[in-house]
Amino acid sequence: MKSPIPFYLQKILDSVRGNKDGAVADYIPELAQANPDYLGIALCSTTGHIYAAGDAQQRYTMQSISKPFVYALALQELGLDAVRDIVGMEPSGEAFNELSLNRNDHRPVNPMINAGAIAVNQLINGVDSTVEDRVECIRSYISRLAGRELEIDRNVCDSELEHSERNLSLAHMLRNYGIIQDDAHDAVLSYTKQCSIAVDTRDLAVMAATLANGGRQPITGEKILDADVCRLTLAVMASCGMYDGAGRWIAEVGIPAKSGVAGGLIGTLPGQLGVATFSPRLNAEGNSIRGVEAFKQLSADMGLHLMSTENRVGINPVREVEQNDDVAVIHLQGHINFSAVEAVLHQLREYDLERSQVALDISQVSTLHKVGRRLLKEGLRRLREEGAEIAVIDPDGILTDREMSDGTLVPLADAEDYQIAGQSIL
Ligand code: GLU
Repeated sequence: MKSPIPFYLQKILDSVRGNKDGAVADYIPELAQANPDYLGIALCSTTGHIYAAGDAQQRYTMQSISKPFVYALALQELGLDAVRDIVGMEPSGEAFNELSLNRNDHRPVNPMINAGAIAVNQLINGVDSTVEDRVECIRSYISRLAGRELEIDRNVCDSELEHSERNLSLAHMLRNYGIIQDDAHDAVLSYTKQCSIAVDTRDLAVMAATLANGGRQPITGEKILDADVCRLTLAVMASCGMYDGAGRWIAEVGIPAKSGVAGGLIGTLPGQLGVATFSPRLNAEGNSIRGVEAFKQLSADMGLHLMSTENRVGINPVREVEQNDDVAVIHLQGHINFSAVEAVLHQLREYDLERSQVALDISQVSTLHKVGRRLLKEGLRRLREEGAEIAVIDPDGILTDREMSDGTLVPLADAEDYQIAGQSIL
């Protein structure tokens, strides 16, 4: 059975595609060359399943999306106290490139604005590191997060360096107050290279999922960051990740996130998944307009808001799978939200249930979130399309709406009809 999740992601893209508002960033001339119509999305579960739609393999530079990951690296290398001596954790409520430092101790207020990110970049690989070694340390670390070797886009980097007066002034200010030690030009060079690491949307989803997974890269299995470091990073992303739009973002979308001026946007749902979108047109705050729209929909539709009581991770949603040569009965349990249904659909594909009859027993399901219901029905419909006879065992009527996407109804069955003397998988 082909997973319905990419199809669902495609629908989200289609619903935002018509929005032509905003403009590509042009303060970095090379970014102004980007095709404004690119639109991509990718989602990676903490179990390492990736789903993508649209231009998810188009390359672009991370820009500010590098900031939370390099902050995490600094926390990992030096610990919170040392990092907090250099940069605070308070939302600035200001634009990303604001010349803002804390009034008392002159520290940048948080690591997500440029002043903070320039200071954090300087912490990597020790204060005596050359620019080259520091950048290589960051590039190779980000590559491990993505699970493949990434490169720096020289054209974008050079283009930004030619117009970096603003960041240079921030670096001079930081050096003046003793926050950074390097010469301002070197500090900006190092930071700009960090921003110019080229990725695609799938890479970003995997990186975001690594934060969701407590620092273990879900595909390579490598443990890259401590869980505490991920928690701190996600907390700072939640309060400061969307610049001066951060408050509205956390209320409306409720997913710790970070945007970049090349049009990327990542979101991390702790313990569950990472999502990334790509669409280069930005709003006045520097956030991707269609990316923000797509995230709003994902959050509302899939119940992903961090403060939502529906957004729980619980026991394994597949209690048991019984099957013999003809019949497979999949017994589900607990709360079926997006992450749960993703796991169920993945298992249906893994076992490659080529039985002539497939029944889904939802009698032990406590709640079925609307996206869980929709995707389960779509999974069943696809199994039927491939020739299986499908049924749902639902004695309590949890599947309130039985209509599938082709207008037919999910057939119901009694548990007694499926007492099979078969092999139990779980
Ligand atoms: N390299 C960009 C800058 O420093 C990053 C800004 C962003 O992505 O928000 O201006």
